[in-house]
Amino acid sequence: MELAPTGKLAHSQKRLYFLKARDLKDAPLWEYHVHTSYTDGQCTVGEVVSFAQEQGITRLVFTEHTEPEHANTKGWFGQYLGDIERERRLVGNRIDILAGLEVPVTDLSGGLHITREMERQAQFILGAVHRYPGIGARRVGDLSREEALELEYRCLMSLAQNPRVDSIAHIGGTFSQYWGTFPHELSAEVIAVAARNGVAIEINSQYHRPMETYIRMCLDCDAYITLGSNAHRLREVGLCASLLRDGSQVLYKE
Ligand SMILES: [Zn+2]
Ligand SMILES: [Zn+2]
Repeated sequence: MELAPTGKLAHSQKRLYFLKARDLKDAPLWEYHVHTSYTDGQCTVGEVVSFAQEQGITRLVFTEHTEPEHANTKGWFGQYLGDIERERRLVGNRIDILAGLEVPVTDLSGGLHITREMERQAQFILGAVHRYPGIGARRVGDLSREEALELEYRCLMSLAQNPRVDSIAHIGGTFSQYWGTFPHELSAEVIAVAARNGVAIEINSQYHRPMETYIRMCLDCDAYITLGSNAHRLREVGLCASLLRDGSQVLYKE
């Protein structure tokens, strides 16, 4: 398996390696999208790590939400880092654990919802489109399909060109909650731009069905990918990688 570093990204330079889509047939059990009880997940960092070990997961990247409305306690970020550091010491080199963040866009010109301190300490930035910028008090569901399509696309394109972002979460996910599948030709455009900029694409087992469609788009552009389950419960940790481990037998059949 060929693994390549993302290279230019400051927070990734340490030891973060992504897969290429062509490596998936031998994919390791890696999980790059997990929430804990510090925000809207159900389990603690320690519980997730124990479960991940039982499942044979060899890399676990926590990606807590940065939006303050998701935080259950003030000042959680330092405790989160502390928990992860403690688990890292306990498990040794049996599992590679990283402290990441899922960070939404705040505008169309590179703005991210993250504090300077968080950005300095996070080892992985999963850029996301959650609430669309510039819509004032309106909710995403109040927009027309065309407005939402345009905003989702422009937000994703801003992530694809953002050197502060390691990987783009659930392409088309926010749009799809209201208007069905985000058009594949637009996803393909975003993936092509991200691939040129060395920004990885998350294959997300919750939002991307079938995942093979997105993997093929990544293959076409030779994009880096990360596998994310958007796990909020223990049983979801590692789901994306294990589904693909089975599915890849079909995808790569000679
Ligand atoms: Zn998200
Ligand atoms: Zn998430």
